[in-house]
Amino acid sequence: MIWLLLLPLLFSSCRSDDTEMLAKAEPVVRKSSQKEYVLKEPVAKRAPIYPWDKKGPSKYTKITKEHFRCKGSFANPVRTVVQKNGSLERYFDCGGMDRHSLYLKEGQEYIYPVLLNLLNYIQEVSGHKVIITSGYRCPDHNAYVDPANHSSKHMVGAAVTFYVQDFDIQKVVLLIQKYYAQNKELSSFERYTKNDTDCSTPPWMNKEVYVKLYMGSEGRNPDNGHPFPYLSLQVRHDMIRDKKVAYSWEEAFRSYLRK
Ligand SMILES: [Zn+2]
Repeated sequence: MIWLLLLPLLFSSCRSDDTEMLAKAEPVVRKSSQKEYVLKEPVAKRAPIYPWDKKGPSKYTKITKEHFRCKGSFANPVRTVVQKNGSLERYFDCGGMDRHSLYLKEGQEYIYPVLLNLLNYIQEVSGHKVIITSGYRCPDHNAYVDPANHSSKHMVGAAVTFYVQDFDIQKVVLLIQKYYAQNKELSSFERYTKNDTDCSTPPWMNKEVYVKLYMGSEGRNPDNGHPFPYLSLQVRHDMIRDKKVAYSWEEAFRSYLRK
């Protein structure tokens, strides 16, 4: 019986010995040939010059299709818009570029090259930065931004709105005309004078593009909530494929990938 009482004491003493073994410390020794690592004095180094740091016309990043990604966001509040018949319609924004691709043409993300070429030309020649405010819009974002326009070319990669930082927007229109000056087929621009436009300045157009100018109080929407006058560029004719560029439901709703 007495042995049973002593057993726990026996085991506890064993555990105590193990703990002492683990806690045993040994001195850190260094061989005679080993030396302390000496840190060199830091030397100030110039930051590399990136393309956008260069002075002159090329100081801004080249505009690519990446600049055209949909600006929708789930963080945007629900928009309530009064319809023509007086009813209220609620519009929810899309999840933006994290949730879907650009417009796809022949299986590839596509923005009409003339838009990229024109915007890069404007940036180069003016020496001022082009700010794209609305590029590609998926159908949800288009309905959220411009509920009355069900056939916007923003949904098929053929429209963009933008302004040029610290640069007169009227001069940008002249630059667009200058871009085409050497092209016999496209150098002459007409003015569109019908009354159904939503801006006070009659738009300009040649065979390839349609240019609208919105003054500071016109054409405001969630993508263009800024106070600056801006331009809308739309592609009218695909010069590469020699084909009219038009909105179609099929193209808009079936030609982009959702995540
Ligand atoms: Zn979207």
